[in-house]
Amino acid sequence: MAERFFVDQPIAGDRAVLAGPEAHHLIHVMRAKPGMRVVLFDGSGVEFAAEVCDVRRSEVTLAVLDRTQVDRELPLRLVLAVALPKGDRQKWLIEKAVELGVSQVVPLETARSVAQPVEQALQRLRRTVIEASKQCGRNRLMELSLPRTWAQLIRGTADIPLRLLAHPGGQGDSSLIRDPQAGGHPSSFPSMVVAIGPEGGFSPDELRAALEAGWQQVVLGTRILRVETAAIFLVASVIQGL
Ligand code: SAH
Repeated sequence: MAERFFVDQPIAGDRAVLAGPEAHHLIHVMRAKPGMRVVLFDGSGVEFAAEVCDVRRSEVTLAVLDRTQVDRELPLRLVLAVALPKGDRQKWLIEKAVELGVSQVVPLETARSVAQPVEQALQRLRRTVIEASKQCGRNRLMELSLPRTWAQLIRGTADIPLRLLAHPGGQGDSSLIRDPQAGGHPSSFPSMVVAIGPEGGFSPDELRAALEAGWQQVVLGTRILRVETAAIFLVASVIQGL
């Protein structure tokens, strides 16, 4: 696959301009020269074949040669609500969520969570989304929302047919993650939301509120997984066979 670059403006005509970190990557890492062929994407689902025309200090102009709709998305909208861990583990989780095709990550504020990323940190993580999309070939960007409280998430997802919350022990059902829809193929659902708690786990009140609102509890085996392992394991399990 040719090297991919993200253009943060919709590509409409036969010219595209790269600036910022993407231009830096093309100029300084890829040593852009006029005539060089690359692939561009603008998050719209289209892939553009392009040729470098003009290289400036921090900007590259390209001629758009061809456009193709290339769909590498999951057949359903998958929302991952997760009390994000800190630092490198947070970045790792976002990168893997992009690779696995998650549509949206919602950082969760729960009773036991560490502070969720503020706008500036979210901007850095959106850069991670772009990097991962370049690498894995996704032509739509995974959405990274502002943090929501557990109550807000429960209210805001009431119309999603399939809502799974990972919580060890108790009423949890491990077969649900392999056959989440229990009668009917997941791809027949327009959307699904899965939730992972913080290192301290969901509180009893949070668990109760979710179950009362129609969420289903799943267990992820007999060991306690860290937040990022649990998130990626749950996502990977539910998309099996899609
Ligand atoms: N200290 C908590 C576990 C927190 S692990 C406790 O003992 O209950 C962080 C999150 O990962 C949990 O909130 C849950 O959403 C998920 N998780 C980790 N291991 C899990 C398992 N075996 N089954 C279900 N969920 C799990």
